[in-house]
Amino acid sequence: MLIFDAHLDLAMNALEWNRDFTMPIEEIRQREQAKTDKPDRGRGTVCFPEMRRSGLGLCVATQIARFVKPGNPLSGWHSPEQAWAQTQGQLAWYRAMEDRGELLQVKDRAGLEKQLTVWSGHPPPNTPIGYILSLEGADSIVTLKHLERSYEQGLRALGPAHYGPGTYAQGTDATGGIGQRGRDLLTEMERLNIILDATHLCDDSFWEALDHFPGRVWASHSNCRALVPHNRQFSDDQIKALIQRGAVIGAPLDAWMMVPGWVRRQTTPESAGLKLERMIDHIDHICQLAGNARHSGLGTDLDGAFGREQTPADLDTIADLARVPEMLRRRGYKEEDVNGIMHGNFLRFLRETWK
Ligand SMILES: [Zn+2]
Repeated sequence: MLIFDAHLDLAMNALEWNRDFTMPIEEIRQREQAKTDKPDRGRGTVCFPEMRRSGLGLCVATQIARFVKPGNPLSGWHSPEQAWAQTQGQLAWYRAMEDRGELLQVKDRAGLEKQLTVWSGHPPPNTPIGYILSLEGADSIVTLKHLERSYEQGLRALGPAHYGPGTYAQGTDATGGIGQRGRDLLTEMERLNIILDATHLCDDSFWEALDHFPGRVWASHSNCRALVPHNRQFSDDQIKALIQRGAVIGAPLDAWMMVPGWVRRQTTPESAGLKLERMIDHIDHICQLAGNARHSGLGTDLDGAFGREQTPADLDTIADLARVPEMLRRRGYKEEDVNGIMHGNFLRFLRETWK
């Protein structure tokens, strides 16, 4: 079955973790055995061969670079221009992967339909994986002219915030609204028909952004606060508001967002008893609030600065997503709904956006 993953930091892995996603997963892990700079070294779960093995023929892939003002304890660049340059380097890697035939940028309706035709049935090995370019955190957009340039480069979705305070909106663990710059950004996004990614917006910024943005909204990788109490997850009111706007919400597989009480570098998937099946609880919660299965999808965030030390215990690689349809069926989901969650809902959203 075709899988659509609405959130993968592919280029960040290539350029900041030095991972060559064209290689088999064992080789990527092997080359990191001696490294200790990041907790997920040697524990990656994503590469192109594993994506293809699961039928993952379409994803949303990010550019990401934070700008930090003095006093901000988070890691990031010291100027917006440096952050911009970082995202341009990430784009250069996506282009290099397009040149190799590994990836194919999808930026309009015709491209989407073409990619779906190629991936329906049994695509030959090495079929390019389609990617929709998204920006996670907008700090790298130096001026609105840069947003227009990004659109010309294929940018089709944007999450104004990431962790902490941002230039255009406040993110996870921060508070406050979007300010004039945020409002101007949203106006320009609407003009360019760029999708607003509500993931990572703090509560204040979330409500203000929804109020000011009449365009298309999705949430690429967000779970439910009712199951895991933390501001990173959406409250039921937020989920209902997103459903009203026609959004699709992608379910992430970052362990701390799946089960309550996770302590980074202490809790293990085994000690938490965390299995992939838990993903269905979050999906099901959204479907119950919606009264249907049309607003839920996958946005795994796998290898988004965490690896197997912080994913479900029974997940080896991203190819394990191929087990999700059966889990949904066991919970009573009909085939039409299973298809929707695995790919159809995000595809419907994109068709409506690009009509
Ligand atoms: Zn994220």
